[in-house]
Amino acid sequence: MAASPKKPEITYSGIPASPGIAIGPIHVIARGFSSPEIYHISEKLIPDEQKRFEQAVELTKRQLVELQKRLESLSGNDDSEIFEAHVMLLEDKTLLNKVSSEIEKRKQNAEYSFYAVMQNFLEAMRRIPDPYLRERTADIEDVSQRVLRNFHLDDEPNHHEPDGKHILLAYDLSPSDTASSNRRNLMGFATEQGSVNSHTAILARSFGVPAIVGLNASVIQVTALTPCILDGYSGKLILNPTEETFEKYASIAAKKDKLQTELDSKRDEATETTDGRELTLSANIEFLDELKQVSKSGAKGVGLYRTEFLLLNGKEMPDEFEQAEAYQKVVKEVKGHMTIVRTLDSGGDKLPVELLTEPEPNPFLGWRGIRVSLARPGMFREQLRAILRASAFGKISVMFPLVSGVSELMEAKEHLLRCMDELSKENIAFDAYIPVGVMIEVPSAAVCADLLAPHCDFFSIGTNDLIQYTVAVDRVNPHVAKLYKPTHPAVIRLIKNTVDAGSNHGIWTGICGEMAGDINVTPLLIGLGVEELSVSPKILPKVGQAIRSLSYAQCASAADEALKKANSSEIMNISLEIARDRYPDLME
Ligand code: PEP
Ligand code: MG
Repeated sequence: MAASPKKPEITYSGIPASPGIAIGPIHVIARGFSSPEIYHISEKLIPDEQKRFEQAVELTKRQLVELQKRLESLSGNDDSEIFEAHVMLLEDKTLLNKVSSEIEKRKQNAEYSFYAVMQNFLEAMRRIPDPYLRERTADIEDVSQRVLRNFHLDDEPNHHEPDGKHILLAYDLSPSDTASSNRRNLMGFATEQGSVNSHTAILARSFGVPAIVGLNASVIQVTALTPCILDGYSGKLILNPTEETFEKYASIAAKKDKLQTELDSKRDEATETTDGRELTLSANIEFLDELKQVSKSGAKGVGLYRTEFLLLNGKEMPDEFEQAEAYQKVVKEVKGHMTIVRTLDSGGDKLPVELLTEPEPNPFLGWRGIRVSLARPGMFREQLRAILRASAFGKISVMFPLVSGVSELMEAKEHLLRCMDELSKENIAFDAYIPVGVMIEVPSAAVCADLLAPHCDFFSIGTNDLIQYTVAVDRVNPHVAKLYKPTHPAVIRLIKNTVDAGSNHGIWTGICGEMAGDINVTPLLIGLGVEELSVSPKILPKVGQAIRSLSYAQCASAADEALKKANSSEIMNISLEIARDRYPDLME
């Protein structure tokens, strides 16, 4: 891909959220209203496009006047004035001229040029301190969407995802936007908003595509289809790369591919430290189509199946039989190893299982995880029955998310027992000894791990949430992302407390949060006594190699040292020193 000699190379920086390098054209989507299709136009088509724009605006104005009249005759009051303001906007000469000149400058179709101008305008308005003016953005979005529709009177939807491979550049993406994007064409993505531990970033890592969040660029300033390089290792987005930059990145990508191939070839080697401590290395999955990657990675089972992603296809959880089928597929695919099915963890930044009448003021402290399941026993038992049905086909465990204390665990287990009773009476086979796990991701659960341990078979620490709740830092808020410290002394003490409580009661403790896949902290986690790490399949071979390079004795004494430190950076440095010494090639 050669860069145009006329356009200068521009580099934007953000937070690396998923490793890898992608090279391709940019597809831009901003916030507010959906992006239309984009295509290049030749010089001679510019006047035609400008004409199309004028026609769409004229038609919109006629529709608005019509609407205004209808509303006046119905209500007989001034509510219809709003449409007058919309018409005035469409008569604004500065705006109209700007769109015409953008069509010429961008050499892109009229609807996309209009979209870009309006998005820039909206961004400027959103930054105005006056709340009244800020609120007017909704009107502008509304009228803009109407104009966009009027480009397409043939009923074709104007929302467009490009046919070819592309890098997605967006203001923000929800986990469902990410999950529903066409994965075959998605080479990577960068967002203005977001943070490393948002579910959107987690999905990028699961898909194995590079990603950047918290980009220091207003995305809509970027011309769609611009050639670019996305560097998910350093968090750089480079537009119009020069030949030299392009070659540099092509060679980095080749080097990384070579390392990945080497690591993949070791996938069947035991994940054992040099002094013989064996760790279970399993995979996190969200979708059934990740199962191929799980087998390829050499994972010893699925340590976290995030079942809430079953909500994406319909708006509600699939029924018992459909769920049982999905769980069976996983169990059969991981052949002989354990599959840990986490019950529904909707809410927070993930899809809600049902729409609430009012938005929650603090969704992460609200209706999510086991709280939703316990409040909807019918739905909960359907899921438990489905998991039990699948348990007749292979090794399966059930795990409850966001447990905050013993009473929730006991209540959840009562439902499980009741489902077992029902299935027995219906002569349906299941594993009566199905292991029950608790996610330790709320500080109260970590502190009370000794009280929980007698009532469950394993702990899996959800560090993504455990960190956010322990240090009071929203995991998806880029403004406080710097304060989100996995090695905060409080976090490692809670991990240690959980592991110790588990081992005192003869149960194992694993980690399924993103920290499990971060090789900077593998020495620390092993030293703290964690016995299982569950990570996204793409990075699993790398974590396996890190484990094989470490000595448990060294990690354990480093962890003892770390537990005495007061600062997260000191703790991180203790771990990093070992990591750099033991596997420098993986750390590059
Ligand atoms: C966690 O919180 O660490 C976890 C694994 O769960 P999720 O990321 O799905 O909230
Ligand atoms: Mg969690």
